Amino acid sequence: MPNPVIHVIGAGLAGLAAAVRLTAAGAKVVVHEAAGQAGGRCRSYHDPTLGAMIDNGNHLVLSGNHATLAYLRTIGAEHWLIGPAVAEFPFVDLATQERWTLRPNGGRLPWWIFSPGRRVPGTRAIDYLGIARLLWARPAQPIAAAMNCSGPIYDRLWRPFLLAALNTEPREAAAGLAAAVIRETLLKGGRACRPLIARDGLSGALVDPALRFLAARGAAIHFGHRLRALAFEGRRAEALDFGEEAMELAPQDAVVLAVPPPVAASLIPGLSTPTEFRSILNAHFRLRPPAGLAAITGVLNGTVEWIFSFPERISITVSSADRLLEVPRETLARDLWREVATVTGIAEALPPWQIVRERRATFAALPAENRKRPAAATAWENLVLAGDWTATGLPATIEGAIRSGDRAAKLVGRRG
Ligand SMILES: Cc1cc2nc3c(=O)[nH]c(=O)nc-3n(C[C@H](O)[C@H](O)[C@H](O)COP(=O)(O)OP(=O)(O)OC[C@H]3O[C@@H](n4cnc5c(N)ncnc54)[C@H](O)[C@@H]3O)c2cc1C
Repeated sequence: MPNPVIHVIGAGLAGLAAAVRLTAAGAKVVVHEAAGQAGGRCRSYHDPTLGAMIDNGNHLVLSGNHATLAYLRTIGAEHWLIGPAVAEFPFVDLATQERWTLRPNGGRLPWWIFSPGRRVPGTRAIDYLGIARLLWARPAQPIAAAMNCSGPIYDRLWRPFLLAALNTEPREAAAGLAAAVIRETLLKGGRACRPLIARDGLSGALVDPALRFLAARGAAIHFGHRLRALAFEGRRAEALDFGEEAMELAPQDAVVLAVPPPVAASLIPGLSTPTEFRSILNAHFRLRPPAGLAAITGVLNGTVEWIFSFPERISITVSSADRLLEVPRETLARDLWREVATVTGIAEALPPWQIVRERRATFAALPAENRKRPAAATAWENLVLAGDWTATGLPATIEGAIRSGDRAAKLVGRRG
């Protein structure tokens, strides 16, 4: 009998993680990706306006994201995510012009909250204990029902941190998702909170090394291969339909479906998936950042939320940015640049710029949407799901996507 084939549909990070894990375990893997490149929502490309490679969006990983770091080690790319030796987050408040740096200490005992030079200005040590209510809240509660969403500690720490992690206005987001992120990062201490960035591009760090890893071990990758339909027979998926080409599945073959939720819902009858999404806006400005600009700076009381510094450009992120989808690009570029100039002290007029709006960047991390996330296992014994939108217990993040891919690979391995 020929070796069973595992078909991985979708070469975003979830599909790549599944393919890497399965290939490393000796399975025969074929990856089918609809687009002409891998990476999905986490990719780099050449932007003709800027004449440079940019990422579809700035991505931040924290050093507590253990599945992401394990994936990078497997594909030999851990050195492509770069960050400071200790957790440090400079912040600027545009309303008051205050500047400070949040510096959680390395270990689990959070003595940093007792140090005015390390914590958020205007807060007291006791204010930080308020987060305990969120950690013990019912997971399906909105955050506003689980903690006090006002005052300096919320405005200057919890809201920016949770908005970045959840890509949803924190007050209405699911408490359980917020608690999961806090447990895996801040609660573990500064060692789990070092900000890591793909300084030389997302694809170079998270995607291209995975493709090389797969190719070197004999996995096949087909680009421009869009799955149009799945055929089912009894408790098995029995064929893959790519339009021009249909593929029968042999008895031991299996499928990891790692496509976005609307695509998965169109392929699998009756599948429950999140249906509400939130956008993310990134603006890229082509210029050499001033010496000393931190890799990432938090901005409060502006439209800009985070400023990322790359070797030849400055890029900014606005999360949950649906309100900006219809604002003219020129207006956005001018207004966002004004804020960047204020924070960085750059006197230059607007440099060459690009605005990238990802409309469906992530599912909305609302309690109702979180409930719709399906498990990886399906009713068909040779079909498993992966993707940041499946029931990972985490919000839609790189870490969630990679864990979902790891879990799908494990399930397929167990069934084979
Ligand atoms: C602008 C932006 C900023 C972000 N910032 C962060 C951040 O700072 N930190 C963080 O951790 N996360 C961040 N994220 C989230 C992160 O990018 C995602 O969670 C992750 O990339 C999702 O990976 P995935 O594999 O689940 O899905 P996707 O990346 O969507 O992959 C699905 C793949 O399936 C392919 N596909 C679709 N249909 C078919 C078909 N019919 N047949 C074959 N292939 C198909 C798609 O082309 C795609 O390649 C951000 C996302 C965006 C958009």
